[in-house]
This record gives sequence, structure tokens and C-alpha cells, in this order.
Amino acid sequence: MTTALITHDDCHGHVTPDGHPEQVARLHEVLRALENKDLLRREAPMADDATILLCHPLAHLEALNAAAPETGSVQLDADTHMSPGSLKAAYRAVGGAVQAVDMVLAGEVQNAFVATRPPGHHAEKQSPMGFCLFGNVAIAAKHALERHGLSRVAIVDFDVHHGNGTQDLLWDEARALFISSHEMPLYPGTGAQHEVGAHGQITNIPLSTGTDGGLYRKILTGRILPLIETFEPEMLFISAGFDAHKDDPLASLALETEDFGWITDQLCALAGRICGGRVVSCLEGGYNLPALGASAAAHVDALIAAGGSSLR
Ligand SMILES: [Zn+2]
Repeated sequence: MTTALITHDDCHGHVTPDGHPEQVARLHEVLRALENKDLLRREAPMADDATILLCHPLAHLEALNAAAPETGSVQLDADTHMSPGSLKAAYRAVGGAVQAVDMVLAGEVQNAFVATRPPGHHAEKQSPMGFCLFGNVAIAAKHALERHGLSRVAIVDFDVHHGNGTQDLLWDEARALFISSHEMPLYPGTGAQHEVGAHGQITNIPLSTGTDGGLYRKILTGRILPLIETFEPEMLFISAGFDAHKDDPLASLALETEDFGWITDQLCALAGRICGGRVVSCLEGGYNLPALGASAAAHVDALIAAGGSSLR
């Protein structure tokens, strides 16, 4: 079994203002880091509106369509912008995540990495936010539940920022376990432990500034993995942000490149035991380009290794 890499050139068409950390060069860096790897490469299709409406109201789609500029750039909030290519990129980001679910559930691949942008985990139901327009991973999870009839899925978000958007989109969804670890205090300011979702299915794990890989590994094995195991998901999603890296300019955790490989190994090993190794990982943040490329490579190496060793 192999690992799919799903991406699309249109995702380079989402152009942010000069100096913006969520820049076109990020995806180039990730793809360059993955270029010699043994992956089944697929283009991300455009999602259709009905898929986006699994999580967002029509008003959100209409607002983004109305806001999309024909030239130049528009600013949607303090740090979220749209260029003429942004909407297409965002539809590809959702479409890629959904296709990853389809490929993994069809048994075409063991697992998949969706390398697209804009990222998704800050986008709330009616609010683009924090570089994100649509909640890519939440929509893909909902797609797995609603259209493939899965009973339970789990999402682990190890991006250094709280996945407030995923939390918002899945607040009432009892079938989706959502676990977010994140530095606190830090943008967006949510993600306290008392935020648990309508059914207690959300777990927030705030981390102190300076948390390193050693401590993170203990949290993963001591808290995150047992929660997933108890929930018995049929598919595991990863919101893979690499901005908890010690070199990241937007945050102050201290994970190293190899930590991302180790974390992914552990998640895949658990998935191998409880859900046939079915893992869909979506790129979120990561803003130091060399650290992003190296960490994404370590992550994907672990996905590939899991694909090679999983029994189905
Ligand atoms: Zn982030």
C-alpha cells in the first residue's frame, strides 16, 4: 500500500501580501522536500459547493464569492487575505482533503498527505480567519461520516495554534473526536481545557511556551493516543501544522524536525491497530521555510513507512 500526495498548482495562485508568513513559497518548499519520495501523486479536484456546505452555511460561501477580487488583494481580517486565485485554491484545498478520504476508503492507498493552501483549521462557520477560508479537515471528516457512512472519526491537530475553526465546525458533531494541542497564550486565544464540545468529544491541550519534543512525546503517548484508542475511530485525520518547530517565527514551542516524524509514527501505528491504518493528513501551518520542508518530509516519511508495513 502506498501513500498519496494530493496537491494542485492552483494552490500557488493564492497570493498573500509581501511579507505575509502564509506565502506561496511555503507550498513550493513542501513539494520540493517531497519531490523524490515514493508517493502516488494526484491533483486535488475542486470541491463542489455541496461539500463545503457540509460544514459552512451558504452565507459564508456567498460572502467569500462576493469578496473575491478580480485584481489585487482584499483583506478579510487582520491576517487573512484573498487574491484573484484564492477562491480556486481554497476549493482545491477542500477538494484535495475530500479526495484523500475517498482514496483511502477505497483502499487505493493506505494513507494520504494533502499539501494545499490556504490552510483550514482557523476558518469558522461564517468567518474566514487566521489565513484560512474553508475548514478543510473538518469538511473532509464530515464527508467521511455523511457520505461514506463512517460511525466515528478522530482529528488530531498538532499545529502550534488552536484549531478553533475545526472546533467550531464540529462542536455539535458527536461522531468526531477532536484533539488540539497548542501553545497558550497564543493566537487565536481559544482552546482552553474547558472547551469540550457539545458532547465532550473535544479535548484541548494548551502547552506552555518552550514545550519541547520530549514533553510533547509524553503528552502524545499519555493523553492523545489513549483518547483516540478509546474513541475507536474508523479513520484518523491529522491537521499537520509544523509551526511548533523550534525555528518557527510565529510561535515559541521547541519541537525538532525528528519529533514530527516520531509523532506521525505513533499516530500511524495506532491507526494501524484500530482503524486499518487509514490516515488523512492535511497541511496547516509552518512558517520557517527550511523547518517546514524538513518537518513535512519527516511526516511524510512516516506515512510512507506506515503504508509499507500496514496489514489490511
Ligand atoms: Zn499554526
